[in-house]
Formats: sequence, C-alpha cells, structure tokens
Amino acid sequence: MGLSEYQSKRDFARTTEPSGEPNGTRADSDALAFVVHKHASSHLHYDFRLEWDGVLKSWAIPKGPSLDPAQKRLAVQVEDHPLEYAAFEGTIPEGEYGAGTVMIWDRGTWEPLGDPGEGFERGSLKFVLRGLRLKGGFALVRLRRRPGETRDNWLLIKERDEHASSVSDQELLAPDARSVASGRTMEEIAQDAR
Ligand code: MN
Repeated sequence: MGLSEYQSKRDFARTTEPSGEPNGTRADSDALAFVVHKHASSHLHYDFRLEWDGVLKSWAIPKGPSLDPAQKRLAVQVEDHPLEYAAFEGTIPEGEYGAGTVMIWDRGTWEPLGDPGEGFERGSLKFVLRGLRLKGGFALVRLRRRPGETRDNWLLIKERDEHASSVSDQELLAPDARSVASGRTMEEIAQDAR
C-alpha cells in the first residue's frame, strides 16, 4: 500500500502527525512494534497498528479491542501509517483529516505466529501481543468484500489463553483510561493542545 494514501489525506503544515518522509531512523531492536491509539474523532474508535514491512499496517476498531474470545471485533483496514506514528499523541486540528484527540492507549511488541506476509495475503494472521493492556494470542481474520465495499473488513479475536477475559471490556475500555506513554487522560491531551 505504501504511504501515498496516508500523505495525500493530510496537510503536514497543519497537523502535527508525522509526514512519513524517509529519515533513516529505525528502532535497533528486531522486535516488531504494535500500538493502539484511542482516537476521539467524529466517532470514538481505537486504531490498531502492527509494524510490518517498514510501515504500520492499520485498522480502525469502532468498538475497541476485547480480551474476551467471544467478542469478535470489527477492524476496518485503513491506510498504512509511517512507523513514527507509533509515537504520535496529540490533537489533530479541526478541519483536518481525523480531527480530534489521539492517545497512545497501548503499545509494545508483537510476534507473528507463522509467516505474516502470507497471513496478510491470505487474510488470516495469528500473533502474540506484548503490551501493557493487550497481552497474549490474537487473530485477525479478513472477511470477504461485499459489493461496493472499498475497505477490507477484518475481525480481531482474542485467543483462549491465560490472558483471555482477564479484564472485562468495561474495565479495559474505561472512559477515564490514561495514556501508557504520557499518563494523560483524553481530556488532558486535548487541553494541552489549546
Ligand atoms: Mn483513527
């Protein structure tokens, strides 16, 4: 997919989001990063991002992730984001694409089970997350595209393991959750932008 869709949607003179211009920086660790942003745009949602192939593969999850294996969460694939986006937290200004406050809700590393390139191709990916809020095995499964759909819909599903259902949705997705990066609430991030 590359970053052209990401870049064409944004005015980097107005938003403080990273432009994704190549800058040669790369974490020295071989571990693959993941991040989940909580994003209060027109509709509150969570953006799930996995580092792969030099970009962050990205999905918008309207209901947020769950640790309950019975909850299959719709995850709409969106444009690839630059790796630097993993460190982005702030408020996208009114009138800009995705306007609203963005929090680093969770982050850590992910470990693919099997060949992720093949998994993305086939639309079936199993992996382990090592975050502060999301832990253990998960699967992403792509649904068949229906006529007229322009995005791929996937389901994010928690695997049954010792982390499954360890925290209820109510607790996991609590409105007063704080950023794992800055310790700020959504309100505090929004205030800091004013
Ligand atoms: Mn978003």
